[in-house]
Amino acid sequence: MTDPRRALPSMTALLESEPGRALLTDAPRSLVLDAIRATLDDARRGGPRFDAAGEWLAQAASRVLDMQRLSLRPVLNATGVVLHTNLGRAPLATAAIDAMVRVASGYSNLEYDIDAGTRGSRYVHAVSLLRELTGAEDALVVNNNAGALVLALDTLARGRDAIVSRGELVEIGGSFRVPEIMEKGGARLVEVGTTNRTHLADYQRAISADTGAIVRVHRSNFALEGYVAEASAGELASLCDERGVPLIHDLGSGLMISLASLGLTGEPTAREAASHGGTLVTMSGDKLLGGPQCGIMLGTHAVIERLRENPLARAFRVDKLTLAALEATLALYREPPRALAEIPTLAMLGATVDSLRVRGEALLQQLGAITGVGISLDESTASVGGGAFPVAKIPSLAIALACESATKAERALRAGTPAVIGRVDGGRVLLDLRTIPSRDDELLRGAILAAFAS
Ligand SMILES: *Cc1c(COP(=O)(O)O)cnc(C)c1O
Repeated sequence: MTDPRRALPSMTALLESEPGRALLTDAPRSLVLDAIRATLDDARRGGPRFDAAGEWLAQAASRVLDMQRLSLRPVLNATGVVLHTNLGRAPLATAAIDAMVRVASGYSNLEYDIDAGTRGSRYVHAVSLLRELTGAEDALVVNNNAGALVLALDTLARGRDAIVSRGELVEIGGSFRVPEIMEKGGARLVEVGTTNRTHLADYQRAISADTGAIVRVHRSNFALEGYVAEASAGELASLCDERGVPLIHDLGSGLMISLASLGLTGEPTAREAASHGGTLVTMSGDKLLGGPQCGIMLGTHAVIERLRENPLARAFRVDKLTLAALEATLALYREPPRALAEIPTLAMLGATVDSLRVRGEALLQQLGAITGVGISLDESTASVGGGAFPVAKIPSLAIALACESATKAERALRAGTPAVIGRVDGGRVLLDLRTIPSRDDELLRGAILAAFAS
């Protein structure tokens, strides 16, 4: 079929052929033209040439499909990292998705007071649930936790000192470093203590008439062990109270209930963090909380009111879909067992190894034999991710694929639809089942078969 001497068909002939007209009814004309042109250009440069119009158009149709594919699309997270920032952090609960669809499909009372029949405020939504669930006096929801910190510093410490421990000047993700964010908030960074030890007295000595705030940052993605010391949130709150200085506590991940029943301990809940007097707590909505991307601020009515009045609050404001998803997610926490079952991040963290084994064995059976590939169900270690419980190793199970080239297989899995993101370890591809929802097992099976068929 590839005869370089053969003449190329004309664009017009291809468009007017029967398969050409069929493709035009399925896809926008501009895309079809671009795809045919690219296919013909390809042939001119030595690519495949065909006899029938149908073959040319089949080639063009596959290009059209590629062009129509949206940039942002679902993937299967087989990494075993439950809160994977690169893979969109928390998948949402069904209740949250339903709430978003309801609000997105029409108008809402986003900034309308239905009882009074007058203009309302978007800042009221989610506030009563946050107060009820955390005990905080008041709350404000912004776009993300980084924004929350900038807003807090700009409001409380612009042009003044912000005191922070040297042990907490951390980098959280690619683009988030505590000292840089503090600078963006307009505060002068005053470092106290040392990398491994910071005492209450260090903060005491640093407080002056120029102090805007003390900032406490959750270390999130690493643990300090050995000869270490730090002032507790409670001690810092008392000191701040005594000296009339605000305490900003960046909690990182928004832990709403204790996960001790899942073997995850040692991190404060939002309620505990908010229980220390005048502390302003900031946290993410899409980490352990398991909701949409947002930054949640909890504090006294007086402080939250100042934050709301800062013009920056307008720049960091959340949209209605976020508020809808957040409220519906928070509502699940009224019944903790329901939160553990229905919020996907918590359900994934809570899945027993036995339940993963049942799924894994069924998958192996359904996969059957694939030529040249050794398939087994292997022990694996999952992690929480998203800056919470950084040292927790969660026992898990992975589909292990041993084949001639694990890197090639990993690439083929990534190139499929949906893309499967796994990891290469010891010359095999490991697909951790903990981060795959059970309803996607069939999709995973199809993706594995397709990857090795290609
Ligand atoms: C993740 C994290 C942030 C950043 O939160 P975003 O919601 O991603 O902006 C800030 N501080 C801490 C301690 C974190 O763990």
